[in-house]
Amino acid sequence: MLRTVITAAVGLGLAAGCAPDSEAPVKVSVLARSSNGQYVPTQVELTTITDVVGLKGTVGDLQGGARIVIDINDPALGNATEDTIADVLLKKSGHDVKASYISQKDAKTGEDVLWPADFHSWNMVTSYYNLERANEYFRVVGNVKTTDFEPVPTLYYFPEFIQAAQSKDPARDNAIFYPVLQSFLVLPFEQIQRAPLPLNAAVMAHEYGHLVFNRLAYATQSLPVSLSLWSQESPSMGANILKALDEGLADYHAYGATCRSPSGCDPRFLASSFDGGPFSAVTDERDLSRGDRCMSALLYTNMVTQDVGSWSGNGNEYKLGTLLATALYQAGRSSGQEAVLQRAIVASYYDTTPATPGIYQITQLVLGDQSKFTLSAAVSPILSHITDLELRKAVCNEFIDHLQIPSAELHELGVCPASATGGATCPNIFQ
Ligand SMILES: [Zn+2]
Repeated sequence: MLRTVITAAVGLGLAAGCAPDSEAPVKVSVLARSSNGQYVPTQVELTTITDVVGLKGTVGDLQGGARIVIDINDPALGNATEDTIADVLLKKSGHDVKASYISQKDAKTGEDVLWPADFHSWNMVTSYYNLERANEYFRVVGNVKTTDFEPVPTLYYFPEFIQAAQSKDPARDNAIFYPVLQSFLVLPFEQIQRAPLPLNAAVMAHEYGHLVFNRLAYATQSLPVSLSLWSQESPSMGANILKALDEGLADYHAYGATCRSPSGCDPRFLASSFDGGPFSAVTDERDLSRGDRCMSALLYTNMVTQDVGSWSGNGNEYKLGTLLATALYQAGRSSGQEAVLQRAIVASYYDTTPATPGIYQITQLVLGDQSKFTLSAAVSPILSHITDLELRKAVCNEFIDHLQIPSAELHELGVCPASATGGATCPNIFQ
């Protein structure tokens, strides 16, 4: 989830469009950030689409008109199993969207290009394109296998999404990966006045990052066993750390995906959606280029002592996640090996090699005792998957300094070289 914001409802009528031949590759115009940072109509080729009107392909399937209700007092929820829970939550499964286009010949090439004919068509085809870009980042940079992206996730476009515990009204102004449904939700916007979230490629890459984390670090479990089990205990350090890992790594990959876009690497990727609006503070809070972020004694204490409800209720998963993402950003930048680091991080999610267990494997090893899923244990797979020793040392130093992970613990785990002793930016919170 990108943030937590709750507001009121909207219905959505989508106009029926013409039905152009829609097998990939299809040339379409989308709204994309240009090299000067503005969102402008940009001609692109969709390479994974099978139905350009219904916006369905191998990276996603857009569905409109869905209604999703999460109500812990729903008696059906109490009886639900992992196999039936989606049917309980999905009150209306929705229908194929219908994008409308006007076909125009490109003046230079003479080829047909589809131009979206209305706002929702622009928004929807750009959403699909952004899923395609995110998928490409994880395949090319992350080295994720095509089979790990199956089954194809649904993207519920402008659904009614109601979290009864928070409000009886549908939520707005958010983009979410919802593992229970193995789906993305792109909610209607109300207060966001700048680029709507699905147009922001980095926001979609962040959500795609959650999909990849679920498929690998949670082994595609709709209700991840480690997270569910640990969340039932209080305090719940393991669950708190897992949530922070998921958010922080999603932000770091979202940043990584911007480096493959025409507007270039952007550590402040939320700015084009949030700046100047009610959520503008979030841009600075999640800005990965801030080199002065430090784990505080309070955040550390909260991580160890809070239950996951209190931890998340205060947005602590984002605070710790941003510390992690910033540390990775700094180490990757300073060593000039960002893509290598990004690939190592994805490799660390799931690895059955006994000498270098993945995050999923570590959670299984300590499933019965989440106090063993310390911050050092949680990040050790990332470190053990960095083969370049200079890069690994740089990441170790960032973790010791900015995340205040005791160097002795990392050395004991054998994931950091002895020469990694931290840095001088952050005050020691253990003195
Ligand atoms: Zn998120």
